[in-house]
Amino acid sequence: MAFEKAERLKQLPPYLFKEIDRLKAEVIARGVDVINLGVGDPDLPTPKHIIEKLEDAAQDPSNHQYPSYSGMNDFRVSVAGWYQRRFGVELDPLSEVITLIGSKEGIAHLPLAFINPGDLALVPTPAYPVYHVGTMFAGGESYFMPLVRENRFLPDLDAIPPDIARRAKLMFINYPNNPTGATAERDFYEKVIEFARQYDVMICHDAAYTEMGFGGYTPMSFLEVPGAKKVGIEFHSLSKTYNMTGWRLGFAVGNAEILDGLGQVKSNIDSGAFNAVQYAGIAALEGDQSCVHEMQSIYQERLNVLIAGIQKAGLQPEIPKATFYVWCPTPPGYSSKDFSALLLGKAGIVTTPGSGFGEPGEGYFRIALTVSKERIQEAVERIQKLSF
Ligand SMILES: *Cc1c(COP(=O)(O)O)cnc(C)c1O
Repeated sequence: MAFEKAERLKQLPPYLFKEIDRLKAEVIARGVDVINLGVGDPDLPTPKHIIEKLEDAAQDPSNHQYPSYSGMNDFRVSVAGWYQRRFGVELDPLSEVITLIGSKEGIAHLPLAFINPGDLALVPTPAYPVYHVGTMFAGGESYFMPLVRENRFLPDLDAIPPDIARRAKLMFINYPNNPTGATAERDFYEKVIEFARQYDVMICHDAAYTEMGFGGYTPMSFLEVPGAKKVGIEFHSLSKTYNMTGWRLGFAVGNAEILDGLGQVKSNIDSGAFNAVQYAGIAALEGDQSCVHEMQSIYQERLNVLIAGIQKAGLQPEIPKATFYVWCPTPPGYSSKDFSALLLGKAGIVTTPGSGFGEPGEGYFRIALTVSKERIQEAVERIQKLSF
């Protein structure tokens, strides 16, 4: 029998890391001690008090049944409290907070609630692939907004043709940004809100990295800006803030009508996050936040070692104010893939070619600070010995 895949799978963008994956397997087979700076997945463990809460909650039979679709009330109250403390943003826990099985789940499902076949979404590039793929799975089309250095890796809203803007149903943005490490301030969000109002475009802000500022920098929430809640929602996640990528817990907050649509999709597809995991999430959001500050200072140390080391090797990285990524131009004469291949083949270092995140990422590679300071030191010493 032949099982022909649906058009939506055939339309997936080509997997651009195939060559790097093959080369990585080859290098590992040669016995090279590979340093992986490729993955955006924290290497640090989940803080102990969060794990202990899960252990307790998992023992309680009342948590063994189906959770509520839109999330446990206690968890949503806890999210609203955290938004109040962290950003000074008021949220109604029942209508303005929804629990997600990781923010990726919500981002991927949102277009199903609002995009009809042929509808347009404004999608940044280079970017987290889910914005485009979620749009495509809903039958929509992406209009790509390039993120380039000259515009501080923010989309140039004035460059979007008015007929495109009028056709667009929603816009994805993501700051602090993966993969560029760029950050956005109030003036940018004000422009976004004005654009949303002018063209009737829903804003979906992915805020996964707001707790990962360097040097005391604290990124803001889109929802802090007056009018934001009228036009959009914000996706958030416990994954990066509390080293909980494997736990699958996130949330979306903001405009009640948008969240209602997302909730309707979810209630027909999944049955919510395990209550015990949501109790652990409450322990994370309401517990001692010193684990977050410790995490920040660990990434800060790693960043310092990396930046000093690769600058000495002649590279000129963008210096991020947040995230755990460094976005670095390739040296003259090297494409993204060529340079990532050189680092892997000659130095045993895995990085991510920028072109894999979208065409304007060509000429960059992304380094993730997800190994120890000592391993980063080892990596920069290897890079310094290369000639390029
Ligand atoms: C890691 C990451 C997330 C978080 O995904 P979860 O599903 O919550 O683990 C969301 N957006 C971006 C851009 C990310 O890099």
